[in-house]
Amino acid sequence: MALADWGHIQFSGEITITRYVGEIGDDLREPLHCPECGTAERLTLGTQGDEGLVVCPICGHEWTDSRVTARDVRQMLHLAAMGQPSAFPNGQMQTVVFPPLDEDRTLAPQPEWVDDDPRVRWELGCLISTGTMFTHCLRAARHLSSFAIASDTGVYTRLYPQAGGSAVDAHMATVLVALSLYEIAFQARATKMFEIRLAQAVSALGPERARRVKDLRPIFDFDPDAPCHLRVTDANRMDTAEAHDWERWRRTAVEILEFSIQDIVNHSHLSKSADEVRASDRERQWYPDDLTWYTGNRV
Ligand SMILES: [Zn+2]
Repeated sequence: MALADWGHIQFSGEITITRYVGEIGDDLREPLHCPECGTAERLTLGTQGDEGLVVCPICGHEWTDSRVTARDVRQMLHLAAMGQPSAFPNGQMQTVVFPPLDEDRTLAPQPEWVDDDPRVRWELGCLISTGTMFTHCLRAARHLSSFAIASDTGVYTRLYPQAGGSAVDAHMATVLVALSLYEIAFQARATKMFEIRLAQAVSALGPERARRVKDLRPIFDFDPDAPCHLRVTDANRMDTAEAHDWERWRRTAVEILEFSIQDIVNHSHLSKSADEVRASDRERQWYPDDLTWYTGNRV
């Protein structure tokens, strides 16, 4: 498999489509092939909107196939850009599609706090598993962003650099998603991600309430290796953002959450309403995240 040019992946062999077939209790595997000439080898995959586009190397026929999505293709493009091998994802998420942002990752100093601050008391009460509530929110936010970037063409073209997007915007929108989850968790005095509903995070990012989220600075310092508060660059950007930049990050964060809600509702086997979608709903599809993308050094 090779990156033909940005946006296209050419396979050296066949692309095997795998589908679970419940009735016979096994996976059904079949090679993707050109409907015009039958060729199954050296096909090229690209994207057409949210769909995958397949191109035949022999007769030049181009077609879309419902079993090949832009989400599949963008994951392979991302891995190729990182110099890593990939296989056809078959509709699954096999990596985190998130643009790296090369900048200083030093954490900001711990914000000042007093013992009877209700937020500190709540954060202490959350320390029943590894990490703080904010580290859990950062992990959730990055995975939600990854799904949206890989799946939604509008989000992809604005947040993924090789598609013309901005890695800073991807990062800041994701930090805002994390802060909105953290705020909702505090309001509900939640101690687990399962208790956080994404629709409420959307409300927290409404034009008025979002100002409060912008000024939020998680406090509790727990694990020397985990980012418990914002890093210096993010605190600075939050403090000094031009109104139009802030508004773009806010809208993008809302878009990521709304995409996530709709996508989870659409792919749920149970009938689930948008209000019921929770921050932990896709936890089993997440990749281990040591949060080194967020922080390197501490002060
Ligand atoms: Zn063909």
